[in-house]
Amino acid sequence: MPEEPKKIIFADCTFVFSSPACKCKVGTTYTPEGCERYVFHLYPKDEVLNFAYVAGKGLVNLKYGSVNKGKDVLSELLSIKSGNPKTIKIFIERHGFLLPIAPKKHSVVEAEPLFELINRLQATVFLMGAIAEAKINYEKILALTLYLLLSPQTSIELENEYDGPYTTCESEIVHYLQNPHEIPWRVLPLEDEAYAMNEGCYIEDSIRPPHTWLKEHEYGEAIKYGDATFETMKDKDKVIYLFQNATNVSPDCRLAIDFLYHFFKDVGEIKTWNHKGDLTFTDSSPAPTRSMRELDGQLQQGLIKLAKHALKEEIEHNFGGIIPSYDFEAMAPSWRINFLLSGLYLSVFYMRPNTALYRACQNPNCGYYFLVPTTATKSKYCSDSCSNAMQQRNYRKRKKEQQPEKK
Ligand SMILES: [Zn+2]
Repeated sequence: MPEEPKKIIFADCTFVFSSPACKCKVGTTYTPEGCERYVFHLYPKDEVLNFAYVAGKGLVNLKYGSVNKGKDVLSELLSIKSGNPKTIKIFIERHGFLLPIAPKKHSVVEAEPLFELINRLQATVFLMGAIAEAKINYEKILALTLYLLLSPQTSIELENEYDGPYTTCESEIVHYLQNPHEIPWRVLPLEDEAYAMNEGCYIEDSIRPPHTWLKEHEYGEAIKYGDATFETMKDKDKVIYLFQNATNVSPDCRLAIDFLYHFFKDVGEIKTWNHKGDLTFTDSSPAPTRSMRELDGQLQQGLIKLAKHALKEEIEHNFGGIIPSYDFEAMAPSWRINFLLSGLYLSVFYMRPNTALYRACQNPNCGYYFLVPTTATKSKYCSDSCSNAMQQRNYRKRKKEQQPEKK
């Protein structure tokens, strides 16, 4: 059992918690195919780390500074380079492991699911910020939303006192895209608008309410007139199948189906997306910038709604290690937080992106994420040193440009 958290009292702390410190080594293993894979070896220490969250300042590890100064833990997590085990090791050695590990015992964690877990937390915070920014970047919001909604579920198995492995959130839409056979075929009476080629039926629609006319011809092509197998079906066609048949799903899932149906049809077919907000379209679709111009008001509104639902689902999924508890001495609400990841998600839960959000430092040699008031659209650098470095750099650049070129 980890030692009881020390009681730390701060007048303006929303919550405090403790988590064991941990040593970490990066190792490699090889898959049967000969691919190199990283693993993390974790050795818990007796030392206990104390964390405190203060609104506007974020979650602070008290070992490295008081809540009044010192960078917050979420900034450090956001600054981890994707897939880079070295930066993750540094984070673990400073703040301990994200999930509970067995005390006094060596644990091994595979890198891939851990990368995924960190990517998801990063995507969540980036998406919150993207929605709150004054200038809305729909391409970025779409990539981040798809990342949260459509990434397959991964899990991390650890020996600890909690039940079962940690699993990432699985949205209903990714479940049905992977298992469309669970949605039964719906036989709809075909109506005929004017002539036979236009046969089809009205489908209730949350993006373009109240109904959208789905042509029999379009549906038939998607399911290859009954010959298609779900295993080989493209996502775009599966979405058409779900659009016609998925009536007994949650309103959130239906919103995702309706959005994807219209997006694929009216804007373009998406090939890849990632947790950093990058999006690529298939070769048959027009270029992204041209495609995204097709995003009309209904699709924009639908996307923002979908993004907000994805955020809610993601944050609530990670409440597993958090228990509300009443502080009888202070007669105030408090939380019992069982591990660092829960503490980080609770700090996201308390974020008010309309007031403050995380932004990447514009110094290309830094890339650190820092918490700024949302209205401070001009604050571009994480620190005075980054701001000075960039001023000097720009000054040198201007001077060089002014000098006449030597012949
Ligand atoms: Zn910086």
